[in-house]
Order: sequence, then C-alpha cells, then structure tokens
Amino acid sequence: MAKRLIFLGPPGAGKGTQAQVLSENHQIPHISTGDILRAAVTNQTPLGKQAKDYMDRGELVPDALILSLIQDRLSYEDAGNGWILDGFPRNVNQAVFLEKLLSELNQSADCVLNLEVPDEVLVERLLTRKRKDDNESTIRRRLEVYHQDTVPVINFYQDKETLQTIDGNKSMEEVSESLSAAIA
Ligand code: AMP
Repeated sequence: MAKRLIFLGPPGAGKGTQAQVLSENHQIPHISTGDILRAAVTNQTPLGKQAKDYMDRGELVPDALILSLIQDRLSYEDAGNGWILDGFPRNVNQAVFLEKLLSELNQSADCVLNLEVPDEVLVERLLTRKRKDDNESTIRRRLEVYHQDTVPVINFYQDKETLQTIDGNKSMEEVSESLSAAIA
C-alpha cells in the first residue's frame, strides 16, 4: 500500500478524520498543518502568535511560516517510512516547494487524494463542528480561499497519474472504504 499520501479537499471534507484512520491502520504519521498551528496558538509560541490572526479570519497563514514547519516535520525520524499530509499544500507555491523538498529527501508522494464535497454540504458540516474558526463568515472566507488558492493545487497534480478524486459526500465508513481501495 501507498505510504506517502497527500490529502486535498475543502475545509469540512473529512480529511482530518479520514487521515487519522489511515494513520492508525498503517502506522504512518498524520501531519496536519492546521493541528500543528492550533497547538502553537494554544501554547502561545512565536509561530502561534504570528499565525493566530490569519487563522481567526479564515485566511492562509503566510508561506514563510508554513514552509519551514513542514520541512522540519518531514525530517523527523518517524516520517522516514511514510506520512499523510493533511492541509498542506494549500496553494501552488507550497506544492512546488513540496516537490523540491521531497526530491531532496529522495522521496515522492505515492498518491494524492482529493476528497470532493459540495460547498453547501461543507457549510452545514462546519457549522455543527464548533471549532473556534467555524463561525459562518469565517467558514465562507475559508471556502473562498479554498476555491481561489487550493483548487489550482488539484490542477497542479491532475497531470500526474497520482491524483485520485474520491466522493466525500457519503458516510464516513463509505469514504474510508473508497480511500482504502484507492491506495491499495
Ligand atoms: P485546517 O485545520 O487545515 O482547516 O487549517 C486551519 C487554518 O490553519 C487555516 O484556515 C489556515 O489559516 C491555517 N493553515 C493550515 N494549513 C495551512 C497551510 N498549508 N498554509 C497556510 N495556512 C494554513
């Protein structure tokens, strides 16, 4: 089975939940830039202090903060044998950076998984999730940012045979099954 996975998809598509399941089943680290940033905000680290306002507004955090974070995280020992990236890359510049970083590490992604869910379903899901950045105006902004900055990342990977699009508008179990089949 594929060991280096990139999860793409809008906020609320279920990337985090599905990535966590795969991470446990396959014993590979789940690397969520959103989780890392939220921990940094909670712990009031320099990174957290710089990231907080962007996150509260539903904007992307500047690449300068994210790129060094991901470079560090992929160099940890536990990432040597595989990983699941969730929430990164979020724009084409990050995707280009990742390609370069992986080639320096003599690695490449085995599979890019694109979880597709219609916007109206996402808004419903996010409104019931109750995270701090899950109020309606921030949700709308996060979806706009997704369409503007992250959809081009799908096109970036589309030319490569590694991209697989999965219907995320199904039950959690059904989506898990589709994902397992896609990476088998
Ligand atoms: P997420 O949990 O992936 O939805 O991320 C929550 C928030 O963290 C996003 O709305 C962004 O503000 C920030 N964030 C997470 N990942 C990235 C990234 N790769 N690039 C820029 N900002 C990010």
